[in-house]
This record gives sequence, C-alpha cells and structure tokens, in this order.
Amino acid sequence: MNKPQILIVEDDNAVANLISATLETQDYAYKRAATGAVAVMEALSCKPDVVLLDLGLPDMDGVEIIKKIRSWSNMPIIVVSARSEDFDKVSALDAGADDYLTKPFSVDELLARLRVVRYDGDRLGEESSTYENGDMRIDYSAGCVYISDAEIHLTPIEYKLLCLLAKNTGKVLTHNYILKEVWGSPTASDVSSLRVYMATLRRKLEKNSNGVQYIQTHVGIGYRMLRITNK
Ligand code: CA
Repeated sequence: MNKPQILIVEDDNAVANLISATLETQDYAYKRAATGAVAVMEALSCKPDVVLLDLGLPDMDGVEIIKKIRSWSNMPIIVVSARSEDFDKVSALDAGADDYLTKPFSVDELLARLRVVRYDGDRLGEESSTYENGDMRIDYSAGCVYISDAEIHLTPIEYKLLCLLAKNTGKVLTHNYILKEVWGSPTASDVSSLRVYMATLRRKLEKNSNGVQYIQTHVGIGYRMLRITNK
C-alpha cells in the first residue's frame, strides 16, 4: 500500500523541517514547496492526499492558492499559519480550506488534524440516503433524525443545519457559509440568530446522546461536525 502523500507548503525552513520530521516518524510521504507557484504545480502533478498550506508565502497569498486548487480538485487542505487573526482563517475556509492550525502547534495536534481530513476526504462525493455518525442517523428520504434509534424532533431549520454539517463532517464551516447555504443571503445580524439555532440543535442532540458532542464551536469562525469514532 502506498504511503499517504502530504504536500507541505511553507517558506520557513525551520517549520518545514519540523513538519517533515514529524511526518517521517508516522509513515507519511511528503513533498515540499516554498513558494505558491511551486505549490500549485506540485498539487497538480503529485495529487497529494493532503495539502498543509502556510498562508504567508513570498509570491502569493495562501487564499489564492486555495482558490486555484479548488478550481480543479477537492483534495483536503489544512491551513497552517502564524496569523492568529480570525479573518485570515475565515477567508481561507470560505475559499475552500477544510481546517486550520495556528502556529505554534503541537505535533499531536498536527497528526490529529491529518487523520480527520484524510478519513473524511476519502468519502467525499459519496451519495447515500442515510448518514451515520456514532449513534446518530439521518434518514434523508424520510427527513428524520435518530440517536440510538430514538427519533429527535427538529424544526425545519435545525434539520437543514444538521444536514449541512453532516454533509461536511470534519470540515470547519464558517458562519457566512452556513448562512448562505441555509438562509440564502447572510447579513451580520444573522450570526446571532444562527448561534441561537445551533445552541438549540446541540442541546437536542446532546440530551439524547448522553452528552456526546457532535458539533464543535469555533469561536468567531463557525462550526464543525465531529466524526464520532468510539463505539
Ligand atoms: Ca510564511
């Protein structure tokens, strides 16, 4: 079996060396690119399983690279950046990145994120009439949601939110993206009503699942449906 291939896009040699060394110990293969131009070329020619992308590169903004890659591929992209401002993460996610890591990050954190995006990336594009995650099941044709076979009663908006998160399991969805998908055109004031809907939805799910957390909040950014693996 081939080792999963990671494309490391990073202009800081010390950081790139640290990531490479980590990947070597975990049986990943990797390629390195120190500029945006090389990154786009490598993404095209090697078709990596995951791209780890630094946002601040000498020749190109990372968000531009995401847009380019997304014009032909759904390959998982994790943004790795020293910038801690939410704005950069949000624009990267809105451009199609799957997840983000803020420098400095731990080796464990990096490996955990890689596992998540690879697991879900493999299943992209799979159409099915039901969705299962841990004890949760969505029956799309009936429009019903179950936890451990007990039906959970959701309002139409809660159901739409849940389906959107489920379809993108493992991926961080920004407030803007969710508002656009569920309500059409977002305005800033909608974020507070989104927060209320999400709180009710989470309460309904968690009350019935002995507190298992399905939906993760990213403060100032958005939400993510977690993949529940412990059965
Ligand atoms: Ca940089």
